[in-house]
Amino acid sequence: MAGFGDMSRMKEAVASFVKKLGSNRSSKDSNTELDQQHDTADAVISTTPLWRKKSIIIGGAILAVSAAVIIGVQQYQQYIKSNTFEIVHVYQDGTYIGSVEKVEDVQQLIEEEELELANNNPGISMELKTGELTYESEVGYKIAADTETTLSKLEQSFASHAVGVAIVVDGKTLGYVKDEIAASNILNRLQTQYAPQVATAEDARQIQSLSYNANEEEADSAQQQAATNEDEAVTIKDVGFVEKVDITLDQVEPTVILEEEELYKKIIDGSTKPTKYVVQKGDCIGCIAHKFGISEQVIYENNPFIEGDRITAGDELDLTVRMPDITVRSVEQLVEIEEIAPPIEYVKNDSMREGESKTIQEGAPGSQRLIYEITKENGYILSEELVEKEVIEEAVPTIIEKGTMIIAGTGTGSFAYPVSNYRVSSKYGKRWGRMHSGVDFTGDKTIKASDAGVVEFVGTKNGYGKTVIIDHKNGYKTLYGHLNSYSVSEGDKVAKGDKVGVMGNTGRSTGVHLHFEIWKNGNTVNPLSYL
Ligand SMILES: [Zn+2]
Repeated sequence: MAGFGDMSRMKEAVASFVKKLGSNRSSKDSNTELDQQHDTADAVISTTPLWRKKSIIIGGAILAVSAAVIIGVQQYQQYIKSNTFEIVHVYQDGTYIGSVEKVEDVQQLIEEEELELANNNPGISMELKTGELTYESEVGYKIAADTETTLSKLEQSFASHAVGVAIVVDGKTLGYVKDEIAASNILNRLQTQYAPQVATAEDARQIQSLSYNANEEEADSAQQQAATNEDEAVTIKDVGFVEKVDITLDQVEPTVILEEEELYKKIIDGSTKPTKYVVQKGDCIGCIAHKFGISEQVIYENNPFIEGDRITAGDELDLTVRMPDITVRSVEQLVEIEEIAPPIEYVKNDSMREGESKTIQEGAPGSQRLIYEITKENGYILSEELVEKEVIEEAVPTIIEKGTMIIAGTGTGSFAYPVSNYRVSSKYGKRWGRMHSGVDFTGDKTIKASDAGVVEFVGTKNGYGKTVIIDHKNGYKTLYGHLNSYSVSEGDKVAKGDKVGVMGNTGRSTGVHLHFEIWKNGNTVNPLSYL
């Protein structure tokens, strides 16, 4: 981290200082003036004490004198010692600057300079460039450090620059903010802009209220909508950037550092160019989308006043396609609960006339869970895929009976009562000296064909009133007399049980009843023998 560069450099400097203290003479050749000073110091410290040499020369001199000499030498040594000082020589990038009393003097200067930089550049990370400072210590007799001059020279040599955090997309720097927190805030806001569910509910609210181009009202209504639609649930599975996005630390001019909001706007606006369009006569949403090479989604999202697909010539549409500098790709999982339509099953019924049908079981819809994976870029749908389909409840089929019986117009030879809930009111045979050639029935008014056949006659017959005669094409015919009205016409093919008319009181009749006859090969027979 560049912000801590000074500290680490300082540590390095101190370490090299310590090292140099240990091998003081190793860098002797570098500076003549210093070397001479070194020599002086070395001479004082490392030369064999004088008194020892003298004692060898003088040999057995008087002890008192020797003692006096010894005392003098000791005092001299004391004097030398109390006038021997340690100073520190300061080098910047290998160039000699001057001397100071101690390393801390330089450190203090740096601290003061850094503090001043920070105070003069609020809100911006500033870095002080001190160069590489190295130190060399010297211990010498009556030497003094020129601290003030050295510090002043150093202070003038210091440079400073701002430290900016760049958002870099595919190698291109989009701009600088003051620190990494600001940069990551921007990236987070971009992601939540297009995939709001990434944030927790509380965060989302905060982010939405702060977010570019959004207002609280919209955010609220969006949340309400999400809350009320229980059949749909969207969760974010993945969100990221399409491009390679890096945050890097750079030295910059303080003026290029943008406010967080400013850089966010710059990125989200990107190369977006506002586009308006006035609807022409004959336009449609799809046609306009095609004409501009944009998704219909853009038209609907930008122009929420459009209902269904109704647009009118003269409407002004916003066709602006968002093109931020960074592309947020999100993968959403959409869960929908949907109805399963009841299937229809047909069953054959050969006693039901062909073409007729009857529902014998009403179906009921089932339900299923559909899971879609929706990939979006900057909120625009890129792809939509059904990934799972799970039946929650099976549908109940509708069962319809279909008649398959073909009416041949040929009797079966077995006869059915032509009246439901019948009562026989007069039997077949002789009565009052006359032949009663049929059976009289009362009961329900609907008169039904006693067997399948072809309607041979419909009309009024003397004594019978309104009459229908059916030829069963098997040697049998049936007659239905005293009808009130007819339901068939001559030539109709009828099935057994088909309605032929309504019971009445026409002709020579006493009260409402059906006169029913069965003819076998042209002669009447007793119907009750056949029913
Ligand atoms: Zn009769």
